[in-house]
Amino acid sequence: AAEWEKFTANTPASADHNRQASKSLPLGVTSSFQHWEPHPISIVKARGAWLTDVDGRRLLDLSMGFGAMLVGHLNPTVVAYVEEALQSVGTLFVTPSPTATEVAERYQTRFGLDMLRFTQSGTESLMYAVRAARAYTQRKAIIKIEGGYHGGYDALQVSVKPALADIGPAEAPIPDVPFDVEAGTVYVVPYNNMDRLNEILSEHGREIAAIVMEPVIENLAIVVPDEGYLAAVRAACNEHGVLLIFDEVKTGLTAGYAGASQRLGVKPDLITLAKSIGGGLPLAAFGGTSDVMQVVVDGRMAHFGTYNGNPLVMAAARAVDEVCTREALEVAETINVTTLDHIDEIIREYQLPAHTVALGVKGCITWSTTPVRNYRDYKATDFGVAELSWLWGVNRGILTPPGLDEQWLVSLAHTQEEMDVLVSDFRDLAQALRA
Ligand code: PLP
Repeated sequence: AAEWEKFTANTPASADHNRQASKSLPLGVTSSFQHWEPHPISIVKARGAWLTDVDGRRLLDLSMGFGAMLVGHLNPTVVAYVEEALQSVGTLFVTPSPTATEVAERYQTRFGLDMLRFTQSGTESLMYAVRAARAYTQRKAIIKIEGGYHGGYDALQVSVKPALADIGPAEAPIPDVPFDVEAGTVYVVPYNNMDRLNEILSEHGREIAAIVMEPVIENLAIVVPDEGYLAAVRAACNEHGVLLIFDEVKTGLTAGYAGASQRLGVKPDLITLAKSIGGGLPLAAFGGTSDVMQVVVDGRMAHFGTYNGNPLVMAAARAVDEVCTREALEVAETINVTTLDHIDEIIREYQLPAHTVALGVKGCITWSTTPVRNYRDYKATDFGVAELSWLWGVNRGILTPPGLDEQWLVSLAHTQEEMDVLVSDFRDLAQALRA
């Protein structure tokens, strides 16, 4: 309660702004993930690793646009390329352009994709990836992971972080199917569980077009695959003629130079990318093997979009691709590893019921002494302390992601000194929790 009082005292202008904004925007925000009670913090400026809010406070940004701002806010190369494109190319002409082809070729090389198409958002990319899988296999159903989030596309709104009371045992039929998803077209399996997946595949394999999953789940803090799990999923897909779609909207470049699939050594048929590839501009993509992407070439499915591959976004994409070298990402990852080491030491020293989980330049503190392997484990972690830990940071000028399901990001703009602020803040919290 004292921390919430402090929050309210620190953020009167944000409260006013939210009241005003709520008259035109539902909840006063432009995406429901931006909202929290009593009100979100409204930002007026972002530079490097720092934000300024409407109350004039500076906040160290560890959310970094839900991981989209991997290169840092207003990265100078992104700014230079976008400004150059604005002056010399223009904003939109809905015809092919050399800039889009150049970025596509870069992604072929970096991500090992035969072919790809650009979109504006992760949601769109997931929708088209599912459509491509359905067109390719001529099957309708898909499988998704229990609790997993993949954007706003209807078919993937099944079992998104459901209340435990609503879902019953893991073997139960599909819960909470939204009104526009046909029953029997989405099957839900727990992450890290081959038994349930094999069961569904042996029963319904011939109806199933694809499995859609984050290779490492980054919408339940961070949940990593058991040794051999992803390879087993790949083998099961091959056996049943089911396509494997890896949603790398969140992992992508933050997981390593060529994303989580290459880092973990399992190749999907289709991949979706967004967030970190765009440097803050609305860029996403879906792509994969030429065999599957042939469905777009020969018209088995169509893919549209007025803004796809527009010059400003492509300029930002080229800048991000140039800036995110192996070396640059390794520097950020090393800072992340050092930060995690320090936080682990504090957890041990104060015997906190917590552990850290990381992938690439992202990390999180999970408030549980046992590893989290799936959604149900995740829901059993201590959300009360997780919320306090978040609020503690916000009240002291550190913005970790507002949803407790997110993780921090060490961008190319963060230094070790800045991450040390997180560490010392965590030490203060540990002391307070043990006092
Ligand atoms: N897939 C995953 C794994 C995501 O985390 C998100 C967004 O957070 C999406 C898809 C949807 O992306 P967008 O918000 O760009 O539509």
